[in-house]
Formats: sequence, C-alpha cells, structure tokens
Amino acid sequence: MKGLKGKNVLITGATSGIGQAIAAHFATEGANLALNYRNDPDKLDDTKELIEQMCDQVRGCGGKEVSVEGDVSEEADIIRMCQETIAKLGSLDILINNAGIQTAASSHELETSDFDQVIQVNLRGAYLCAREAIKHFLDRGNSGIVINVSSVHEIIPRPQYVSYSISKGGMENMTKTLALEYAPHKIRVNAIAPGATATPINSWTDDPQKRKEVESHIPMGRAGTPEEMATITAFLASDDAAYITGQTLFVDGGLTLYPDFLKPWSAGE
Ligand code: NAD
Repeated sequence: MKGLKGKNVLITGATSGIGQAIAAHFATEGANLALNYRNDPDKLDDTKELIEQMCDQVRGCGGKEVSVEGDVSEEADIIRMCQETIAKLGSLDILINNAGIQTAASSHELETSDFDQVIQVNLRGAYLCAREAIKHFLDRGNSGIVINVSSVHEIIPRPQYVSYSISKGGMENMTKTLALEYAPHKIRVNAIAPGATATPINSWTDDPQKRKEVESHIPMGRAGTPEEMATITAFLASDDAAYITGQTLFVDGGLTLYPDFLKPWSAGE
C-alpha cells in the first residue's frame, strides 16, 4: 500500500489478536514498529515470531521494531510510552489505538470499578494516546494519522456489556471530533469497526460449538480474522486513503446490516 514504507507506527495492545496482526501487516509494508505491551516484554514473543514469519514470506521487511511498555489506563504510562516511541524511532507518524478490554455483567449489577476500567482502557486511554500523538504531529509541523480500533458495538447496543458499548460509541464521536479539529493540520483520524473476530478476547474463539452459534448470526456465515482487520487498518493509514477522515469502516461480514431482515418476517411478503 502507498505511503507506509519507512513510517513510524505505534500499536497499543500489540501482544495479541488484532493488534498482533496489525503489527505483522505493517511490518510487511516496511513500516517501523513500536509494539506496546504491559508489564512483561515476553508477551511480545508471539508477535515477534509472527512478524518474522510474515517477513520471511516476503523476503524481508526492512523496518525497525522496538518494544514500549505501558498500561493505557495510566496517563503517566501513555506519556512515557509516546516519548519512548519518538526517542527510539525518531518520530511518530501513525498511532493505532487498538488496546481494548470488555467485562460482562447485567447493567444494574455492574461494579463501578469494572465500568471505570473498561472506559479507562478503551476510551480514555485511546483519547490520551491520540492527544500525545497529535501534540507530536503539530510540534514537528503537521501531518499524522490516528486509527482507532472500535467495534460494531459502536452502533449496535450490546446488553450485558454496557461499558464496552459506551466506550465504542464514544470512540465514534472522538474519531469524528478529532478528525474535524485537526483536518486543517493534515492529521487524519479514522476507525475500523470489527465484527466478531476470532481472537483471545472472545471465549468462543476456540470452542467449535459456541463459535458455530456466533457465526450463525453473521450474514456471511463466519467470524472475521485478525488479518482481515489488519489489512483494512493499513489501508486507512495508507496514502490510498489520503482523502478519508472522520470515518468508521465496518469490517463485519454484514453484521451491521440488520441480519434479521434476511428472511421475510411474515408469510406473503
Ligand atoms: P485481545 O484480547 O486478543 O487483545 C487485546 C490487547 O489489548 C492485548 O494485547 C492486551 O494486552 C491489550 N490491553 C488490554 N488492556 C490493556 C492496557 N490497559 N494497556 C495496554 N494494553 C492493553 O483482543 P482483540 O480482539 O485483539 O482486541 C483488540 C481490539 O479490537 C479491542 O479494542 C477490541 O475492543 C476490538 N474489537 C475486537 C473484536 C473481536 O471480536 N475480537 C470485535 C470488535 C472490536
């Protein structure tokens, strides 16, 4: 894809699932990577192995790869992580706000601390990372890219997951607000909204029976793969998407198309 080679990219939550696939895909595009992990650098082992495998397939990638520790629910960590990225790579061109968590509970029973934690990681953390990246983009004389990894639950209400739904709903407005505010500075802000994707965040990923049940609700009849999320993330960050800002691209096999309407609701229709 145009414009990714040699770009410096920070990916939050790069140890697993979609973040890991995004890291490997950007590596194959020749980007330099700052891979975010929490606490234990060994958590990046699988990501590094995947990057190596994918780079072998394309006979080497050529980009740099550094690790940056940080908990995105902590402001001080975010500031340090962004500064470290800039120090290690020389600058930052693309931020991928991918780290995310979810907690399930009936909304009337949800603990305040669980509510706060989800908002703090998924929404406040993404905003603070964007804030630090944008400061840097402006300091060095404009231009830069933020991609938020949102969810179909940006627009589909998800009972039992009210904090997750609120966090992703908020992310939609954050994407639009930042995109509008910084468009004159050539800073683009977009989001991808994955549908059900086979990653460790979902208990059904490795359970064939549960997975079948989940996939029965998806118009295209299957879950998405982390790689399918990674390629669209790379597209939005590339020069091929140079005129797109403030948008959420749904990558969901048709999940947001009101699947219940696939079959007529009453005889005679
Ligand atoms: P995952 O659990 O495999 O990965 C989540 C990543 O976020 C991990 O690397 C984890 O270490 C990191 N993380 C969590 N809390 C963190 C914190 N406080 N600080 C730093 N890193 C932290 O899940 P995934 O499916 O790859 O999720 C990635 C993103 O995709 C999330 O934002 C999630 O909401 C979104 N998403 C996933 C799906 C899906 O079905 N898998 C669907 C829609 C959206």
